[in-house]
Amino acid sequence: MNTTIEYARQQDQNDPLARFREKFHIPTRPDGSEVIYLCGNSLGLQPKSTEQYVQQELDDWKKFGVEGHFEARRPWLPYHEFLNKGMAEIVGGLPEEVIVMNTLTVNLHLLMVSFYRPTKDRHKILIEANAFPSDRYAVRSQLSFHGYDPPEGLIEAGSENSDEPFPTEKFLDLLKKQGSEISMILLGGVNYYTGQAFKLREICEAAHEQGVVVGYDLAHAAGNIPLRLHDWGVDFAAWCNYKYINSGPGAPAGAFIHERHLGRKDLPRFHGWWGNDKAVRFKMSDRMQPFQTAEAWQLSNPPILAMAAVLASLDIFQEAGIANLREKSVKLTGYLEFMLSQIKTDQLRVITPKNPDERGCQLSLQLTHPSSRIMKALRERGVVCDWREPDVIRIAPVPLYNTFEDVYKFVHNLTEILLV
Ligand SMILES: *Cc1c(COP(=O)(O)O)cnc(C)c1O
Repeated sequence: MNTTIEYARQQDQNDPLARFREKFHIPTRPDGSEVIYLCGNSLGLQPKSTEQYVQQELDDWKKFGVEGHFEARRPWLPYHEFLNKGMAEIVGGLPEEVIVMNTLTVNLHLLMVSFYRPTKDRHKILIEANAFPSDRYAVRSQLSFHGYDPPEGLIEAGSENSDEPFPTEKFLDLLKKQGSEISMILLGGVNYYTGQAFKLREICEAAHEQGVVVGYDLAHAAGNIPLRLHDWGVDFAAWCNYKYINSGPGAPAGAFIHERHLGRKDLPRFHGWWGNDKAVRFKMSDRMQPFQTAEAWQLSNPPILAMAAVLASLDIFQEAGIANLREKSVKLTGYLEFMLSQIKTDQLRVITPKNPDERGCQLSLQLTHPSSRIMKALRERGVVCDWREPDVIRIAPVPLYNTFEDVYKFVHNLTEILLV
């Protein structure tokens, strides 16, 4: 590796996925030039095909009215089924274990209705210390809902210092020591702040040994790192589709329920008519006959226009291939790490683990002298990235549409800003 722009351009020329950038709308600056978009961890870019997928549903609605449920080119009644294969591949689940519905926090709650089953002796919930706020609010409210006092029922485990890597060993140790009191763990697959990818298989095994239910929030993991939810035996998971999965702001989210829980009659679940087996749904019977798949967790008929945007994106993932994306991602982020290491400054430290197996595409840069000047200057130079309080810039080069040259330009700009 070297620090020249020629090297970056050479890498782009040799990149077998380079053509995928053409499939996305890259936002532009007022002068028409493309921004350096490194914010796919927050909102993924719009595929050019999305418009066509959504337009097709608008056209079929125009043409068929209510008959579109059956007559649309992609009939609305089973529309979610068109998403299952692609979604299942992204998270390593079986198609029947995966469903696209609602939004992330809603899905977490619906899944906790089924999987957070506290008893007198075992009611605690274990989460990571710097979990995303929505997840913390959700688990606290679940504790309260079941009559427990959140500070007492919630174990927040991690390093003392939220910007240090998450100590898996310590976490496993805690599961061993306190496992018998813990009902469920809810862990982010990749931490939104540090960018650390947790050892999801090991943690799942250790939790199961203690009889602890395992739930993962894959908001920053799905579409970013390889996942094998089925093989790992994860009980349930949920994720949003607007970050790495490029399905648009507020897109319908994903949920996973392991095969061994499908069709269980002893699991409580909130019901709505869309969870009723489609063979009997329109009999409008008083009695519910839920699907024997993850579809049983559906409540309502889904927003087809928004589902179309998810499908557009999944088709691109299928074409690119998860393994190919990961291969490029490791190189691209490795290059970002190398370039950052060449900046002669002590104002900046990468807090994301160095081991590629312990991270996705994001690197989190901690500033010793955080200042709004730096973010403002980056913005003025056309860099789109985000800032997380108190002192971290998150940079996410995404293998589908980012280039090595993007990374080069970002580091070049950052260097100029820091060294003035
Ligand atoms: C982005 C994100 C959310 C957002 O939740 P929504 O319900 O989609 O608004 C929640 N949890 C985590 C870990 C996230 O990264």
